[in-house]
Amino acid sequence: MHKRLYWIEIAPGQPSTGLMYSIVIPIYNEESTLPELRSRLVSATASLDADFEVILIDDGSVDRSFELMREIHALDGRFKILQLSRNFGHQIAISAGMDVAQGDAVILMDGDLQDPPELLSQMIAKWKEGYHVVYTVKRSRKEGRIKRWAFTAFYRVLYAVSSIRIPMDAGNFSLLDRRVVDVLRQIPERHRYISGLRAWVGFKQIGIEYDRGARFAGEPQMSIGRLFSLAFDGIFSFSNIPLRFATFVGFAAAAVSFAGGLFVIYEKLFTDKAILGWASTIVTITFLGGLTLMTLGIIGEYIGRIYDEVKQRPLYIISEAVGFEEKNITSTPRIVAPSIDIRSN
Ligand code: UDP
Ligand code: MG
Repeated sequence: MHKRLYWIEIAPGQPSTGLMYSIVIPIYNEESTLPELRSRLVSATASLDADFEVILIDDGSVDRSFELMREIHALDGRFKILQLSRNFGHQIAISAGMDVAQGDAVILMDGDLQDPPELLSQMIAKWKEGYHVVYTVKRSRKEGRIKRWAFTAFYRVLYAVSSIRIPMDAGNFSLLDRRVVDVLRQIPERHRYISGLRAWVGFKQIGIEYDRGARFAGEPQMSIGRLFSLAFDGIFSFSNIPLRFATFVGFAAAAVSFAGGLFVIYEKLFTDKAILGWASTIVTITFLGGLTLMTLGIIGEYIGRIYDEVKQRPLYIISEAVGFEEKNITSTPRIVAPSIDIRSN
């Protein structure tokens, strides 16, 4: 395992091994879970052999989350806060956290305690065995039946169509080695599906299973619409099969209509049957119209993504950074924020 080259502040009572872990947690309106999140994290990290920092990314919360985070930071400087200028979505919030994380290993987890912090030591043990990516596989979930079913279906569709092997039922909760983080940071993609990118980078990867708990409190902040758009990001950024699908369907429809044409000519020349009714005509027209719209939609999904990429907008904007060293914030290439408010406490 490579060593950190820079000096780190050592919190009192923490052993010094020269290593540091970063725990990156996106937060969007989690005022009801933050106090519990903090105490669970503190106890789960007590037995770690090295220092850690927790990077809380406030993804444009409109409740008291930011104030609570400030209180947490005031109590415990290992908790740092990056406030984004608005809600950018949790994949981008995580990316922002990775950009400023200084740890030798970076752990990504949700802020609603669906990802148990108690798994950290197990993940770190795997990292020490030499794995660069330790992802977690949900053995079970505690969500509504429809949502569970939708997740199951999504992971399988993605597995079937993606050009690389993205492990099934593996979400964001994972540990990434510094090298992997550095590679991910160089990927400029805007529609980020981190579980996919994580698989794409390669290196030595291993999965560990866990039972995904229920949310500690509050409502899910990812609406169904957002989950769908994340699912689309996963599929469209890791597969060109939907585009090919349009071609296959086009060929199939052409073959069917050619056969139909032959049949019509045959009837005309060799039988005296009446002309077939308009119903079949209408059905064919609407069917083909539907197919055309659908394939245009598929093409549109890709074009929309191309458009978003060529606009070259920054991935996110930081409005405030609490507890970081200034150089770690301003040296981050993706940030465009002429006036980030950087506070040391
Ligand atoms: N989250 C975020 N920005 C958003 C939506 C969610 O930072 O726009 C955070 C949220 O606070 C939580 C994590 O991302 O820590 C996962 O969100 P949620 O629990 O709503 O997603 P689900 O578990 O339903 O996939
Ligand atoms: Mg959740």
